[in-house]
Amino acid sequence: MRKVITSRDIEALQTTGGDLASLPVDALYTPSAKDALNALGITPAGKTSVGASPSSEPAQPPAERQVTNIESFFNSPEINLLKEKICDIGRRLWERDYVDGNGGNISIRVARDLVLCTPTMVSKGFLKPSDMCFVDLEGNQKAGTRKRTSEILMHLEMMKAQPKAISCVHAHPPHATAFAVARIQPPTCMIPEMEILVGEAPVANYSTPGSKEMGQSVAALVQDHNTILMANHGVVTWGTGVEDAYWKMEIVDAYCRTIVFATQLGTELKTISKDKVRDLLNIKKGMGIPDRRYNLKECELCDNSEWHPGVVCGIPPQKNDETSPTDIQAEELVKTITQMVMNKLKG
Ligand SMILES: [Zn+2]
Repeated sequence: MRKVITSRDIEALQTTGGDLASLPVDALYTPSAKDALNALGITPAGKTSVGASPSSEPAQPPAERQVTNIESFFNSPEINLLKEKICDIGRRLWERDYVDGNGGNISIRVARDLVLCTPTMVSKGFLKPSDMCFVDLEGNQKAGTRKRTSEILMHLEMMKAQPKAISCVHAHPPHATAFAVARIQPPTCMIPEMEILVGEAPVANYSTPGSKEMGQSVAALVQDHNTILMANHGVVTWGTGVEDAYWKMEIVDAYCRTIVFATQLGTELKTISKDKVRDLLNIKKGMGIPDRRYNLKECELCDNSEWHPGVVCGIPPQKNDETSPTDIQAEELVKTITQMVMNKLKG
């Protein structure tokens, strides 16, 4: 008999730090359990689709898949669904002001040596399924009439360095990009969702967009991080599916926006206590999401020593016995006017 998994089982696994990704693929999941996994972006063991879009994610791990007839695969119902999914994500990026002009790009690995991606010079808000391209892992175009995005080389370097990266999303969301321009890694330990689903978002060195160097500097960070700020450029995320990668973009930009607002409130930002951050990291570990901090000591978990919020300029208090030149001039003026009025009255 097939095992039944309920939302309570999911909760229990979360609180005990169990491995949600190792849930049995052939179990029966109740609708609330599916919703819970859906919200966490988890697909049990990666083989049975219980994820956000069951019909639009590849059924077989892409890295194991060999494709012989590329053109018919490119036009298959499975890939056509993924093309539509990319259009949907593109529209969401554009509607949230995460992309501008023809900026941003999206990719999904669909086979051992095939990646579906967006074309160059098209607004992400108005993509059509027929705009999509296939490339191999070296960036050579394999299908599609439009030219592939030049930034695909970065996505491919990320996928090669991180096998869990099935999809990559690159955009220029303004709040997170502000941190990337300032080259400041956002401080940590302030909001649970950011800690669990993203964590630290380091800043990769600047390189020319579309260059292999850009891909290499980002790829060097993908083992431990799923969201990377690109210095003076934007943000790139990876996920186990395109929806998952997109969520990281929303989470990091909302987080950076909140941090910017909070720094304007005139008080030091407070962090979640380190033992509670350890709880969050245990949940994260159970979800199979990498984080550099798993092996750190508790006291090292929230090291925000690099964080320097904007300097607040205060007006220095004036001493009582000091009178500024402006005050002296004003006093002289009042004296003169008073004298003139008195003279007029006397006259
Ligand atoms: Zn860009």
